[in-house]
Amino acid sequence: MKPLVVFVLGGPGAGKGTQCSRIVQKFGYKHLSAGDLLRDERKKPDSQYGELIEKYIKEGEIVPVEITISLLKREMDQTMAVNAQKNKFLIDGFPRNQDNLQGWNKTMDGKADVAFILFFDCDNEICIERCLERGKSSGRSDDNRESLGKRIQTYLQCTKPIIDLYEEMGKVRKVDASKSVDEVFEDVLKIFDKEG
Ligand code: UDP
Ligand code: MG
Repeated sequence: MKPLVVFVLGGPGAGKGTQCSRIVQKFGYKHLSAGDLLRDERKKPDSQYGELIEKYIKEGEIVPVEITISLLKREMDQTMAVNAQKNKFLIDGFPRNQDNLQGWNKTMDGKADVAFILFFDCDNEICIERCLERGKSSGRSDDNRESLGKRIQTYLQCTKPIIDLYEEMGKVRKVDASKSVDEVFEDVLKIFDKEG
């Protein structure tokens, strides 16, 4: 069986991670957060990419796709090696720009199917407030006002056009993510009940 992927996109703090954990509890998906995988890689003392990853994350820029794809692919391969039936993946926070998309298409063409794009549409001001709130305890080097300004710019300039591209292909399922976690999840449920 090939991996069946749902890409989960939206601005920083739109609620991707929160909603993904709920989806996992309810449906048989494996959640892969590209950002979390990069942060884990950065933490490894022997990683050759640690410094590079930290620099990109702090600046709100997007890590070269070779690194991100290798982490995502390793996780998918490992998951399916343990249980070949476990082929449904929520890939959260990826693809974020043209480089990501091209890398995915090049590496995964014919090897995985993208079911749809779950798009958490959230007002930028709300996104910033949520990340600043999260920053009080997240320990993340990019949950501060300076990094957030850059992350929002990167989202608008680089990620939104990727969502628009998928929209033209009829692949986007959009949710209003400025509402409460429960309300957003109600809308998410409707989508997954329909799409499977
Ligand atoms: N990042 C990246 N490529 C990815 C995903 C994340 O380079 O495919 C980097 C990027 O610098 C981003 C940061 O990791 O700003 C944090 O991403 P994450 O998805 O964790 O942030 P969130 O959107 O959940 O707040
Ligand atoms: Mg996240």
